[in-house]
Amino acid sequence: MDWVGRVAEIRRWTRGGERAPHKPLLLLYALGRFQREGNRPIPFSAAEAELRKLLKEYGPPRDTSPGYPFHHLTSDGLWVVETRHGPGSPGPELGRLRESEAAGRLHPDLARALSEEPGLLGRIARYLLDANFAPSLHTDVCTLAGLDLEAVETAGETARPPVARRDPGFRDRVLMAYEYCCAFCSYDGWLDGAVVGLDAAHVRWWAFDGPDDLANGLCLCAIHHKLFDKGVLGLTEERTIAVSARYVGRSQASRDMVLSLAGRPAREPQAGMEAVRADHIGWHVRQVFRTPARA
Ligand SMILES: [Zn+2]
Repeated sequence: MDWVGRVAEIRRWTRGGERAPHKPLLLLYALGRFQREGNRPIPFSAAEAELRKLLKEYGPPRDTSPGYPFHHLTSDGLWVVETRHGPGSPGPELGRLRESEAAGRLHPDLARALSEEPGLLGRIARYLLDANFAPSLHTDVCTLAGLDLEAVETAGETARPPVARRDPGFRDRVLMAYEYCCAFCSYDGWLDGAVVGLDAAHVRWWAFDGPDDLANGLCLCAIHHKLFDKGVLGLTEERTIAVSARYVGRSQASRDMVLSLAGRPAREPQAGMEAVRADHIGWHVRQVFRTPARA
């Protein structure tokens, strides 16, 4: 069975010509659950809030009910729904999905193929992302869907079992601790009630055993996250901002957004919450930051 081909048959547009990432989002979410806990049935009551969030952030501007993909994906042969009355979905209505204790899971044939073929999960997820979302959104979509794409793609290449999972709550904890403000420039921004342009950055990279702890996290805007990961920006032990002397920017924007940060204290998390730990800063200084720092 060509499962990626089957996934590719999911319709990506509504009849009205609107982008329709609803089923892909549910599939990505289901793949994330599969990664963490196998093909255990996912109660609609447990998935509803998370699906609603995914649809709100990455669906079309118009509001969509999480019941829509939960029910309609069954027609693609990739997803099955059962209720307390037995197999079969009660329909897309929220009330009926809740009241009948509906639960969904990947089609058993697909689940078996995912278990037998280490690279398949990564290929399906990659296809869904490429087919439905701009590249700059891939990481954010996976984070919100609870899907660890890096781990599965690495596992597929080397045929070793997936390693420890990323914690999907890391981003929320870090953003909340920093009150949804960039720790370097205080940027904040919301789109329709969802935070936009802010990331939870790992100081010590996850690929190098950086934990998903607040003590290893910084809330950064997209540009400062990129510059921090590239080693343009760093932190001193006192948590003031360091700017690499190797970074050059002549525009006023570069001066405002980068050069003027040198020596300023980074924003601290809320009182009582853990600031970035010195050993993680030390790792970043050694492995990432482009020395020397500007005076
Ligand atoms: Zn910033």
